[in-house]
Amino acid sequence: MQMKIPKHPTLIRRFLQARQKQLQAHCPVLAASLVTIRRVCGNPNCRCAKGRKHPGHYLTWKVKAKTHTAYVPVDLLPQVKQWTQEHRRLKYLVSQITQLALALIHSHVTAKRRRHGRS
Ligand SMILES: [Zn+2]
Repeated sequence: MQMKIPKHPTLIRRFLQARQKQLQAHCPVLAASLVTIRRVCGNPNCRCAKGRKHPGHYLTWKVKAKTHTAYVPVDLLPQVKQWTQEHRRLKYLVSQITQLALALIHSHVTAKRRRHGRS
């Protein structure tokens, strides 16, 4: 997720501002992964007993290295998908903003050193 970072502090600030503006959530933000799990229902006469398992949608997320799971009803699926995508978008933005903020700090330190005659 490495991005191209400009060298000049003015440009870095411009990049930062553009990303800060995009940092607004357009829907609930869901920090979880959407997965499809195929299961058998237990009825020996059902199609799943012959291998055509029932697909179900679940959310998984981690709390302190422990994985949690929640069932997602199919009618909520489009919304839930959007909420997890919104989390991915914001996470990516935050990682870009972090890289730019660090680059800004770095450029400041370099400029200060130059002014003091050290390099
Ligand atoms: Zn079944």
